[in-house]
Amino acid sequence: MCGIVGYVGHRETVPVLLGGLQRLEYRGYDSAGIAVVKNSGSLDLARAAGKLVNLVAQLEASPISGDYGIGHTRWATHGPPTEDNAHPHRDGSGKIVLVHNGIIENFLELRERLQAGGCEFVSETDTEAIAHLISSHYEGNLEDAVRAALEELEGIYALVVISVDEPQKMVAARQGPPLVIGLGDGENFVASDVPPILQYTRDVIFLDDGQVALVTQESVRITDFAGHDVPVEPQRILWDAVTAEKGGYRHFMLKEIHQQPEALRDSLVGRLHRTAGSLALPELDLDEQLALSIPRLILLGCGTSWHAALVGKYWIEQLARLPVSVDHASEFRYRDPIIEPGAVTCALTQSGETADTLAAMREAKDRGARLWTICNVIGSMATRLADATLITQAGPEIGVASTKAFTTQLAVLACFAIAAARARGAIDQGRAAALVGALTEVPSRMAEVLNHDEALRDIA
Ligand code: GLU
Repeated sequence: MCGIVGYVGHRETVPVLLGGLQRLEYRGYDSAGIAVVKNSGSLDLARAAGKLVNLVAQLEASPISGDYGIGHTRWATHGPPTEDNAHPHRDGSGKIVLVHNGIIENFLELRERLQAGGCEFVSETDTEAIAHLISSHYEGNLEDAVRAALEELEGIYALVVISVDEPQKMVAARQGPPLVIGLGDGENFVASDVPPILQYTRDVIFLDDGQVALVTQESVRITDFAGHDVPVEPQRILWDAVTAEKGGYRHFMLKEIHQQPEALRDSLVGRLHRTAGSLALPELDLDEQLALSIPRLILLGCGTSWHAALVGKYWIEQLARLPVSVDHASEFRYRDPIIEPGAVTCALTQSGETADTLAAMREAKDRGARLWTICNVIGSMATRLADATLITQAGPEIGVASTKAFTTQLAVLACFAIAAARARGAIDQGRAAALVGALTEVPSRMAEVLNHDEALRDIA
């Protein structure tokens, strides 16, 4: 889940958006795009797969300009990192445009309904459904339409929406991923984090979950989803740009330690259904027949991923009574491994590009194994090689000692252990529901522990 920038004001919008996206690059991304609108009512859009330089090159070749606009760096969750899937996304009329970080859990249901109503989808993203949904509620007031759409969205999201018909206005909403409003002089900003804003203003409002911001050139109004005003005190950020990238922490590793609750929540969203006490991993098609037919699961990984696999072995064997072996991916292809018929290989890799892990995956594939991967980057080589991918949502990890990449792998392994246990009939529904309930609580429990970091440091 990546970066959002939005701008309304007196400056040329494109450089503000591109500069902002550059300052969000540290969050990692696989594609990027911007949409700018002129007050006279024309919209221009540019999107490119890959690095920001590709978008910049495209804009140099065909420049665009506008009076307000939005930009996005994408970390794909639904649909590969292509230009068509890159944000911003539009409704059918092309007048409502939005960027989104997060995951819409009920997007399939929404898409089917909207398609039945005549909407044509042009991307594979969950995000596009939001654009069409807002459009279906639009009766001349963007803010009202966004609010009505929010009532129907399930999942986590940070959104910024603009409309060609309502100049100099952005509607932002948060339920999960962060959003910050920058308060300028005759100009205002929205971004996923403070670095894009800092060179223009140090006065910001951190939007809370369940809040909507109506941002124009001269004003910012914060309300709850129902539309009631929420009084907020702007904060003055005194960090320099480097500290801001570290979120005010002394170093990236500390920041990443504190990002774990959020990364875990993002990795579990859409998988756990607490009320039903059930868990879904549709990516694997793990029905009873498949689950019972697997004689052994072979987990492959290097370094941190190998350690996560060792923990996974405990959980999977204990809960699902499924034999698991854990291999160093770097050794696998050199030792003439035995892969019995029906065995499944699952490669754990944060980047999806670890050379030894990819070589082990190819070896397994050549020997006829079904191939899964637990990976942090959609579109990476591991996800392209694998028959099925369980994605983690750790975001980029800069600290060399792994933190959130490791714990999100564990979260997904725990989901697999429970799903496999249920599918193999090794645990009953009551036990599964208890485990799902416990797993749902892990992110907030983690946050609670991390709140005591000062005290823990003293003890250490
Ligand atoms: N789920 C959206 C997509 O796949 C947003 C991803 C993001 O947060 O960058 O396009």
